[in-house]
Amino acid sequence: MTINEANFKGQKVIVRVDFNVPLDENGKITDDTRIRGALPTLKKVLDDGGALIIMSHMGKPKGKVNPKLSLGQIKDAVSAALGAPVKFAPDCAKAQDAAAALQMGEVLLLENLRFYPEEEGKPVGVEKGTPEYDEAKKAMKESQKEFAKTLASYADSYIMDAFGTAHRRHASTAVIADYFDADHKMLGLLMEKEVTAVDNVLSNIKRPFTAIMGGSKVSTKIGIIENLLGKVDNLILCGGMTYTFAKAKGGNVGNSICEEDKLDVALSVIEKAKENGVNLVLGTDCIAADAFDNNANTQVCPAGNIPEGWEGLDAGPESRKAFAEAIKGSKTILWNGPAGVFEFDNFTGGSRAIGDAVAEATAEGAFSLIGGGDSVACVNKFGLADKVSYISTGGGALLEAIEGKVLPGVAAIRG
Ligand code: AMP
Repeated sequence: MTINEANFKGQKVIVRVDFNVPLDENGKITDDTRIRGALPTLKKVLDDGGALIIMSHMGKPKGKVNPKLSLGQIKDAVSAALGAPVKFAPDCAKAQDAAAALQMGEVLLLENLRFYPEEEGKPVGVEKGTPEYDEAKKAMKESQKEFAKTLASYADSYIMDAFGTAHRRHASTAVIADYFDADHKMLGLLMEKEVTAVDNVLSNIKRPFTAIMGGSKVSTKIGIIENLLGKVDNLILCGGMTYTFAKAKGGNVGNSICEEDKLDVALSVIEKAKENGVNLVLGTDCIAADAFDNNANTQVCPAGNIPEGWEGLDAGPESRKAFAEAIKGSKTILWNGPAGVFEFDNFTGGSRAIGDAVAEATAEGAFSLIGGGDSVACVNKFGLADKVSYISTGGGALLEAIEGKVLPGVAAIRG
């Protein structure tokens, strides 16, 4: 069943969305891309004459209640986006009464699913690798099923529309689907759009294909980096990763973020790029700062020759030029992760140079796919959202889909 074949009149529909939106220190949403992304599905249910139960996670509360990560903070924003009043259930696993009382046309938002460890299904407070952990994991699997069953009991149909977490087999993203028959579970419109966008890129790669990977660490992205080495013509590695590579090549990186235990991994990426004929573009210079602060003193220096006490927080002018050069003329572009600490206005230059080059290449006919909360925030911050081809709401999910993996959230529905 697809959502457009369904009619939700008279039904209560539980929808897993990804409302893991960035908040500022006052709990104000700084980028509402993910809320806007879920609207077509949510509106379809209401327009059909159904009732909505919306569920999501926010941040990483690790199975504990954390008021700073309460979805109650975004209730009014969801209500404004939907153009309908939204009720709030302050305990997602004890919302039976609120769900039962819900009338058609009404909306109920559940509290952060990850306040319960059952959502992710990871045992808490037990050390990994111990026999106790294995036991705890078995028990957790059972309680995860119970948790999913409780969520399922609130509704007649289930829609999975949280692309951002579709690469996780969690209670609300996959396990819950076991409690609905094939006619009462389906992917939402956002999921369908995202999966199609990835399929379009993978089935029809126009060359040159350039991937830009930034962000803080090599370790979290090494899987996709290795995978991309077999697919792309140009691979730009930027952001905090720059310094692990610079150190691996024998440089001094001062206080820059650097994964000492990944130096060999960095060297092997360089080697593999050579073997595969991939043009690997690494940052050669940086904007170094004397503190992790927007107002820190700065100097431009080589990424592998940063003075003690200083740290590279953005790509330098020479690197920006090299990035733009590699992006220019590309016909397929994938961008995930910023080139610097873009949250500080004084360190946005590298990411901005990439954004501008991607927009320019798109105007020349490239298909550009932007994914990951931070790169999407960059594109929005620089006013480039309508100058790129497709903005994905997924980070990890997008990368796993690009790797060719079947996402558990998709498999749970499609089998
Ligand atoms: P990730 O979650 O791995 O995609 O990383 C995103 C984060 O990387 C953003 O919050 C950036 O501020 C951060 N980042 C980018 N470049 C640097 C850098 N040179 N030093 C420290 N953090 C960085």
